Order: sequence, then structure tokens, then C-alpha cells
Amino acid sequence: MSGAFLHETAESLGRLVRSGERSALEVTGAFLERIARTADRLGTYLHRDPESALAMARSVDRRRAMGEALSPLAGVPIALKDNLCTRGVPTTCGSRILEGYRPPYDAHVVERLRDAGAVFVGKTNCDEFAMGSSTENSAYFPTRNPWDQERVPGGSSGGSAATVAAREAPLALGSDTGGSVRQPAAFCGVVGLKPTYGSVSRYGLVAFASSLDQIGPIARTARDAALLYNAICGRDERDMTSRAEAKPVSLDDLERGVKGLRLGIPRGLLGEGIDPEIQAALDGAARELSGEGADVVDVTLPHARSSIATYYLIAPAEASSNLARYDGVRYGRRVKDGDLKHMYGATRGRGFGREVRRRILLGTYALSAGYYDAYYLRAMKVRTLIRRDFADALRVADAILLPTTPTPPFRIGEKIDDPLAMYLNDIFSIPASLAGAPALSFPAGFTRAGLPIGLQVVGRPFEEQTLLRVARAWEAKCDAASRVPRLVAEGAR
Ligand code: GLN
Repeated sequence: MSGAFLHETAESLGRLVRSGERSALEVTGAFLERIARTADRLGTYLHRDPESALAMARSVDRRRAMGEALSPLAGVPIALKDNLCTRGVPTTCGSRILEGYRPPYDAHVVERLRDAGAVFVGKTNCDEFAMGSSTENSAYFPTRNPWDQERVPGGSSGGSAATVAAREAPLALGSDTGGSVRQPAAFCGVVGLKPTYGSVSRYGLVAFASSLDQIGPIARTARDAALLYNAICGRDERDMTSRAEAKPVSLDDLERGVKGLRLGIPRGLLGEGIDPEIQAALDGAARELSGEGADVVDVTLPHARSSIATYYLIAPAEASSNLARYDGVRYGRRVKDGDLKHMYGATRGRGFGREVRRRILLGTYALSAGYYDAYYLRAMKVRTLIRRDFADALRVADAILLPTTPTPPFRIGEKIDDPLAMYLNDIFSIPASLAGAPALSFPAGFTRAGLPIGLQVVGRPFEEQTLLRVARAWEAKCDAASRVPRLVAEGAR
């Protein structure tokens, strides 16, 4: 019986708990059982604490028994990416350098969810400091794609996307700097929303590239993603880039359909390198949505082609500065080695993995005195052009429709020794990141080989609502979310 919970939406689980039909304890127990069965095999979690999850669930049941009004997420299990600070609970960012680190405070989003009565089931695996597209850069172990365990789940929020796809949790939070919520959502066949830059407070999100980082929900349906977004969005004084314009979305409005909505397709950006099955999925979705009354129009993003080069200067530049704090003194593991200078070198040399060291070197170089104008400053100028491209395109269209990734999930090991090939996988997700625009990936179907395909919608700042509406309209029409990975269907022996 408890297995039936696993396929419920977060929305309906919340309703069952609120109405008293089911206890939060029962619901949580079912997901913990599923986690116990599949999580080690998939490598979804870096830290699990079933006892504390059960205690959180009991407290929701107690509050209900005392007649307290419960919020929509009360008693709903949720997984947190391991770069979100959780008070007293290990937060490693997938890095050795933070092994054993227990933050003394909660991230803003964690605080909000705690108040909402959500139940934390664990901290999910990710690429070290969120740098990567496959979760293979985790210093601990890789995460496997629930649809094909020989393949990557995407990254960097691979653990969060895989755990939702594997029915280990109905909801998860990830973080997205250049695609890290959307790309793993696409690879795992779930919904992933990167909110507008400034919609969600970054307080307590371990910084990678502060001008790009956003925390975003991962769920199986658009409504569930909306529910989680509503719980975390809005102004928070502790993050001066968070904005009061960020308002909860209306769930009723999501049912309105796409009639009259102008959807722009940036054909010029598509073209070579894109998998034919993904191109076909895009064409199919454009046709279906236009059949539902959307107006499909052409848009151009002339500078988006430069977005990878731009991002791989700006993001490493910011990272090289943000990661300076891990020196073995203020944070993290210290490797003792002679005098202070050697201690720094040994701590950082051994504490950081290869990709993180590569980014620190790239970023330091791009910011160094002789090269600043040629690289960092130039990249910032191109970023402005890309931002303008989006503003222009979103005058012609209400939202832009494009693939989330150029290919379906690749094999574990396939790209790990070729950083450029790995970076190129971000071609469709990075432009919206540089523009600060909200962007959402929704499951659009499967390849012939049974691998998930994700499509992306990008909107105007603070119009998350429009993106969720498109995703909801698509779901109502083509129920890709009902298909279940074999490992789940078989009950994972
Ligand atoms: N894959 C990109 C990178 O490695 C994006 C990562 C992210 O969004 N955190 O930088």
C-alpha cells in the first residue's frame, strides 16, 4: 500500500496529510523505504538521516492533531542539494575540502521549507561546488541515471533530479548557475525550474558564481514545481540581490492553457550538433502547442552562440574569488604541510578536485592584470549583448521554446576527460543564465532507446508563471510524466 504514495504528486501528498487521511509519518516512511532500496545503487545521496526525517514528520502530525493550519508542503518529503546549508547537518558541496563541515545555520530556502513543515530526507549528490554537467565531478561517487544506469543523470544537481525521477522523493531543490537544474531535469525526465535571477534568496547557498547562481525546484509535474517555487521565492534581506517582484504563482492560472501565447523559436541557434530526435521533439512540441492555440513565431538571439565562451570566463572568474575562502583556516579540512604557504597549497591542492582546480586557474587568469580587459571585461560586454537579445526576442514572443540539451544523456565516462565537450553540452541552458531570465525544462518524451528528452521555455524576468503554464499545458496534452523508470517498476530488487 505504502508504495502507492511514491507515485502521488507532492500536491496530493500534502492534501492527504492535511486532511488527515494519511499521516506525515506514513508518507515519509514510504519514501525512506524506497530510498533505502535504490539510493546506494543510484548514488543519489551524500548524506541521509532517516531518524531526523521521521522526527520532522512526527512533528507535522503533532501540529495537525493540535488543530494547527498546515501549509501545502507540510509532511511532504523533499531532498536538498548538498550545497544548501543545513544547520548541524553535513554540507559538503560534493567536495573533500568540506568533508565533515556542518554549517551553524540554515539557508534561506531551508528555513522557509522547515517553517512549511516539509520533511528533509537527505542531501543529494552533485558535482563538486556545482561545477559540471554529469555529477561525475562529485569527490565521493557519481550518480547514475535512473532510466539507464550506465548513463549520467546530468549535473550538477544530478542527485536531486535522479532522486525525483526514481520516486525516492516527490520534490528536490537544486541550484542552477549555467543549467544545473534544467539539464539534469531534462536527462532524468522531470521538471526543473531556474527562477529569474533574484527570485530566490541565495543566502546559505554555497557560492559558485554569485551573479548567476539561483536555487530552483525539481519535481515531476509543473504544479508541484510551482508549489515548491511558491514556498521559497521572494525578498530576503540577507541577499541584497533578491527581489520583492518575485511573487508566488497562481496554481489555478496554470490551467489556462497556451491559447494566444506567443512562443518564439530561435531557429538560428539550433542547427548542427543537435541530436535529430531532440530536434524532432522540439518540432513536435511546437506543433502540439500551436494546435492548443499558441502562436509559434521565429525569434533571433544573435549573440547566444558566444554564450559558452562568455560563461566560461565569467563563472570561473567569480568562482576563483568565491573559493578563496577554503584555505584550511576559515573552512574545511586542513592538510598540514610545513609553513603557512605550504599548508595553503597542500590544503587546496588536495582538497579540490581536478575540475575545480581547472576553474580556479582559468578564473584567476581571466582576472589577472594583463588579461582583465581582454577576457573578463570583454565577456561582461558580450553578456550585456546576450541580455539585450533576450529582451528583444521577448518583445516579439511571450516565451522562447528551445531544447534543454543538444543530446540525450551520455554515458558515464564518455566526456569526463574532454572538458570542452562537457562544456558544449550547456549551449542551450547558458544563454538564459547570462540573461538572468527564468527558464524551465519539462519532459517532452523519450528517444527510441528510451532516454528522456527535455525541452526548455525561457521567459521575461519574474514571469515564471508563463513557463509553468506552458509546461502544464504540455503535460495535460502529452503525459510524459506517467512513464516510470524500469528500476522503479521492478521495485528494485
Ligand atoms: N555545467 C555548468 C558548469 O559546469 C553549469 C553548472 C551549474 O549550473 N552549476 O559550470
